[in-house]
Amino acid sequence: MSGSSSQSFDAVFVGGGVIGLASAWRAAQAGARVCVLERAEPPAGATNVAAGMLAPVGELSYGERDLLAMMLASGALWPDFVAEVEAASGTSTGFRTTGALHVALDRDEAGELRRRHELQQELGLEAEWLTPTRCRDLEPGLTPIFVGGVLAGGDVSVDPRALALALAAALREAGGELRTGTEVVDGLWVGERLVGVRTAPSQTQPSALSSPVGDKGLRVDIHADTVVLCNGAWSGQTSWLPAEARPNVRPVKGEVIELRPREGEPLPAERIIASERIYLVPRTDGRLIAGATQEERGFDTTVTAGGVHELLREAYRVLPDVAEMELVGMVAGLRPGTPDNLPIVGRGAVDGLILATGHFRNGIMLAPITADAVAAILADRPVPTSMIPADPNRSSLVTHTVTKDNRLPGEHSLEVAR
Ligand SMILES: Cc1cc2nc3c(=O)[nH]c(=O)nc-3n(C[C@H](O)[C@H](O)[C@H](O)COP(=O)(O)OP(=O)(O)OC[C@H]3O[C@@H](n4cnc5c(N)ncnc54)[C@H](O)[C@@H]3O)c2cc1C
Repeated sequence: MSGSSSQSFDAVFVGGGVIGLASAWRAAQAGARVCVLERAEPPAGATNVAAGMLAPVGELSYGERDLLAMMLASGALWPDFVAEVEAASGTSTGFRTTGALHVALDRDEAGELRRRHELQQELGLEAEWLTPTRCRDLEPGLTPIFVGGVLAGGDVSVDPRALALALAAALREAGGELRTGTEVVDGLWVGERLVGVRTAPSQTQPSALSSPVGDKGLRVDIHADTVVLCNGAWSGQTSWLPAEARPNVRPVKGEVIELRPREGEPLPAERIIASERIYLVPRTDGRLIAGATQEERGFDTTVTAGGVHELLREAYRVLPDVAEMELVGMVAGLRPGTPDNLPIVGRGAVDGLILATGHFRNGIMLAPITADAVAAILADRPVPTSMIPADPNRSSLVTHTVTKDNRLPGEHSLEVAR
């Protein structure tokens, strides 16, 4: 079957990652008729790969005060956000409130950790310096040789895959639609105003998650008062938008590995454990996620032997028991990076367009506040104060500073990068 059909909504969301799903859900709750168009099957995109740390304190970076304010504001929303999504969907999001322990494996790392701890204290954040003995009292699986640690007791985590599925169910419960296997390939215009999008003919039958209206074999024109562009790392390549309306977003590759204890064995850690070069995130389903590499390699999502080797080596240095664990997964994804590491959320450069993208390492963390901001913009209300620096018109976005990766193919930059 081939042909076309036409439908209309208050808002159509291009991309069903955590940002599209959370924002559409909030808009649907506020009474808007919404539809999310996702070319794959959620959980997809970077959301499918993310470690799910919600850790504004432990992951604090120098010179990123606006980002910290956004993360703290979003962090305050998380407990209610999770409770609401879980109640609406009837499923768990794997939310864990066990805190994070950052350890310094040598004197250099200790110097760096001390400096970050001073900043945490200066900003009044909850972070306590612990001796190795106290760290090991909390986490007996830690390596016996290290210099000290910082406990960020308020840092938490979520399972982004479970969250995406729960959000999809909550969206449907609120009356919103999700169409999977549906790629947006063009915009619909009346003069210079964007009035909707055109999808490619779907090659797949709608999945259990997808809205019951199947579009198999059809090219569909979807009319909407507003188009919300939330397709993550791909948003900067939206060829159907005029160049000045395309967000300044580039893909930043990250690899993670997934480990599982052998039958009958416990997880080697209760909390998020991090060193300067790795983080390990325990999941409620028994997995341990170790991440992450960070590289500028365009849209390449190859899992490399070098990346996996370094992740395993660094994981073993912190938690030696990982050597006994089963390696159950290796996956790479693309963070949507921006020149100033802040997301881009607000009205776009053409009428009818809202941008909700560029969340880089923090899209899971920032999903609740972004969803509130998008729902506010759709309702012509002001965005939450902490989201004002995410304005698409800020000057730091004007110059596109794509950093070329000039390292040899075998070299990986392993960082505590989400
Ligand atoms: C290794 C790694 C670890 C991370 N760890 C963390 C962490 O611990 N904490 C944290 O807060 N964040 C983390 N992140 C960052 C987080 O994953 C991202 O910021 C977040 O997922 C961005 O969400 P998004 O919805 O904007 O994009 P995505 O999740 O990438 O979703 C975009 C979606 O758009 C779809 N799409 C693209 N083009 C089209 C089109 N034309 N038509 C239809 N659909 C389209 C894609 O298929 C995709 O599903 C991590 C990322 C990586 C890669």
